Amino acid sequence: MAQKEDILKRIIGHAKEYGFVFPSSEIYDGLSATYDYGPYGIELKQNIRRYWWEAMVRMHDHIVGLESAIFMHPTVWKASGHVDAFNDPLIDNKDSKKRYRADVLLEEHIEKIRGKQQKEIQKAAKRFGEAFDEATYRTTNDRVIGYQEQIDDIKNKMAGYLAAGDFTALRQLIVDLEIACPISGSRNWTEVRQFNLMFSTELGSVSGEAATIYLRPETAQGSYVNFLNVQKSSRQKIPFGIAQTGKAFRNEIIARQFIFRMREFEQMELQFFVRPGTEMEWFEYWKAFRMRWHRALDLPEESYRFHDHIKLAHYANAATDIEFDFPMGFKELEGIHSRTDFDLKAHEAHSGKKLQYFDPELNESYTPYVVETAIGLDRMFLAILSAAYTEETLADGSERVVLNIPRWLAPIQIAILPLVKKDGLPEMAKSLFNTLKLDFSCQYDEKDAIGKRYRRQDAIGTPYCITIDHDSLEDGQVTLRERDGMTQQRMAIEELPAFLHDKLHLSALLSRLLD
Ligand code: ATP
Repeated sequence: MAQKEDILKRIIGHAKEYGFVFPSSEIYDGLSATYDYGPYGIELKQNIRRYWWEAMVRMHDHIVGLESAIFMHPTVWKASGHVDAFNDPLIDNKDSKKRYRADVLLEEHIEKIRGKQQKEIQKAAKRFGEAFDEATYRTTNDRVIGYQEQIDDIKNKMAGYLAAGDFTALRQLIVDLEIACPISGSRNWTEVRQFNLMFSTELGSVSGEAATIYLRPETAQGSYVNFLNVQKSSRQKIPFGIAQTGKAFRNEIIARQFIFRMREFEQMELQFFVRPGTEMEWFEYWKAFRMRWHRALDLPEESYRFHDHIKLAHYANAATDIEFDFPMGFKELEGIHSRTDFDLKAHEAHSGKKLQYFDPELNESYTPYVVETAIGLDRMFLAILSAAYTEETLADGSERVVLNIPRWLAPIQIAILPLVKKDGLPEMAKSLFNTLKLDFSCQYDEKDAIGKRYRRQDAIGTPYCITIDHDSLEDGQVTLRERDGMTQQRMAIEELPAFLHDKLHLSALLSRLLD
């Protein structure tokens, strides 16, 4: 675990040094859980967003886009349940004055027990060697079973208390388990209180007329309240979807782990409207399609898993997460939810306006059901960055840090490098740069020795370097160096555009999504 956390620290350092992600307002010591994207970060982020958008909107003729405003009528958040129920249970330690999420304190305690259980299993694995069967050991060893019972007991109690809103019992559980504050080491806890995660501000400048409005905590509600506007203006028939990307804001209590949990972040959400009764088919379709979208990127297969929700939110009849193996372990990257007609019905009730669809095939009107896919753009960025970050020792004993970013999404796709800064090589390189930049994101670099320039490109994840040398002037060929294997080949300049198009163009990635 410590080693993995160490990796996260190195990724954060690398992201800053190479212009991917900076802490916000750094010269004022930063603002917690808020980050700025640097020159390469913004390119990567835009490329991820574009991949999502093209895969969802362009590849599906029954999905259209929307950009709704961040501010919405305050009743939207009443109808959606966010005013009353978008809360985290908070607890303060009276000695350190530090604030925690009660459920997170309990989860961390569970992780400690799991760590002990894991140690037992590892010890046994060493003892038994080849013959070790972990599954059997887990169900037969008393100590391992005991730890599992403790874990299950805490989990069940916690889920029950949270569902019932019984915060006295939740606090008592923390006390009974003798959980101490990691800062003060004391068990001097306040009561558990509910804390709403929405940021609020005031609309209007005249006091009295001012109304409390919220910064949206999700983009989804903008798609629900525009359901009929979009359906009618784009002449869509059910089933159809509304795709939206944009900023969302949550006043997260536990804001750490870099860009995994931010207070200002970006979501990419699809709301897919279907005929009631068909939602499970579509839930399965979107589960499969979204996983295909991830897999097309060639990140390690074992980094993804589905986590089906057993306990469902009141509005859902099926839900699953796509979890990713981040440096902090498996965590939610994307949620896929079958939300029934909860949201549209709630907006009908609060607005007094009908949000129904007349189905010409059935010759009747109904409130559609919704299947949602929601992924955090920043979390996807972190997934890619953490899978890409690689420290290598090369055959000659030197070290290199390389970002194996999926080549279609790399911030810079091609670096064009004249071997030396004279003899007409820069002119030839610049001419190639001016041609290729029309189709690809390119960088021209003539500073420093070629080896150093290759390392610089490795560190920002550039899949191809093209080197122009003296022979190029004679034979019209260049050296094409590939990032991951560091292999080099000579190629005629006129062959480059077609070769690079096949390797790097977004269409090559999108074609992997076809059936
Ligand atoms: P979590 O349980 O991690 O708080 P959530 O279940 O509340 O997430 P959703 O409301 O389903 O998340 O939001 C959809 C997606 O938005 C998540 O899968 C995640 O990728 C992203 N997301 C949610 N909260 C944050 C945040 N604070 N910072 C960055 N991304 C976030």
